[in-house]
Amino acid sequence: MKRDDLDRELERLAAEGLYRRRRVVDPTRGALQRVDGREVVGFCSNDYLGLADHPEVVKAFRRGAERYGVGSGASHLITGHTPAHHALEEELAAFTGRPRALLFSTGYMANLGVISALTGRGDTVVEDRLNHASLIDAAALAAARLRRYRHNDVAGAVARLAEGAALIAVDGVFSMDGDLAPLPELAAAAKVADAWLMVDDAHGLGVLGARGGGTLEHYGLGLEEVPILMGTLGKGFGTFGAFIAGEEALIEYLIQRARGYIYTTAMPAAVAEATRAALRLVEREGWRRDHLRTLIARFRRGAARLGARLMDSTTPIQPLFVGDPGAATRLSDRLLERGILVTAIRPPTVPKGTARLRVTLSAAHTEGDVDRLLDALEACRHEDGSSEG
Ligand SMILES: *Cc1c(COP(=O)(O)O)cnc(C)c1O
Repeated sequence: MKRDDLDRELERLAAEGLYRRRRVVDPTRGALQRVDGREVVGFCSNDYLGLADHPEVVKAFRRGAERYGVGSGASHLITGHTPAHHALEEELAAFTGRPRALLFSTGYMANLGVISALTGRGDTVVEDRLNHASLIDAAALAAARLRRYRHNDVAGAVARLAEGAALIAVDGVFSMDGDLAPLPELAAAAKVADAWLMVDDAHGLGVLGARGGGTLEHYGLGLEEVPILMGTLGKGFGTFGAFIAGEEALIEYLIQRARGYIYTTAMPAAVAEATRAALRLVEREGWRRDHLRTLIARFRRGAARLGARLMDSTTPIQPLFVGDPGAATRLSDRLLERGILVTAIRPPTVPKGTARLRVTLSAAHTEGDVDRLLDALEACRHEDGSSEG
């Protein structure tokens, strides 16, 4: 791409309704946020349990910064691995019921690091078409052959595994759709093919399962069925960072070989301390998950009554299907005028023709917040009706 091509490409994106703009969003309290000077209710954060501004998490963060400073100063293998990081790894291992856990600075890097450490040129990596971009990019970085199958199509996965695949990677909860991967079937298929099964549970951990153990707890699967579990800390845990949990040898191998682990600065120790506090809340406060379930049911009932196109999801990710990217952006803008923030998700994040409003619910919402969202959706629908008639 030459300098002169940039303007043309930007114009093309704008013409197709695909131009991406950032909003400056100033969080005030819980799900309330200030956008362009006015307070709105946000329905697009991944802070599903409402822990990001929890007083215990904030206090642990502040104490961590006082104790360790702000920057970790180096990678884990140099001097960045503090007692706070080490304790968090042990607590995450216990929480996931696995021998070891290894912290990464982001989920994106964890996925790149693991897949490029375990596979390489000549290997085949099998993935669901709707996997998160980081899992797709990981196969490219590894220079592995990427074989994708139709979303949640077990037979398609089995056929590609049979080509002699080294690894199959899937989202536990699909990030833009909110549905679950058929993990028991995929685990059985991976075993038959003697391939690694890696589950990215960015949107399941903390949220699904009675204890918040995520998609694996939901299905009752362990280390035997799913040898590689990736979790992110910036979503249900409300902080920042990621981890891989698995057996001893896997973790030791990643410490030697995962470039996304080795060649980057460790997360700040204060973030590790804040995450330890968040983990205790995830374990202790099951009411957050119960409340979320109530909100999800209320939203789905209300949206169905409005004739909205819900997707097949039981999780806090409750997208409203729109289709056309321009229409999705306009609906998002109109909701914002009514004090509701929901971003439009457009290609290439989702397949062409499937633009949507990705509504996410959080334990920080009240039932009244959900009703406000439903009222705003209904008002937008009426406006549509009058402009067409
Ligand atoms: C958010 C997300 C990631 C990336 O995690 P970060 O910590 O934000 O880099 C990876 N996988 C999935 C499925 C995600 O939703």
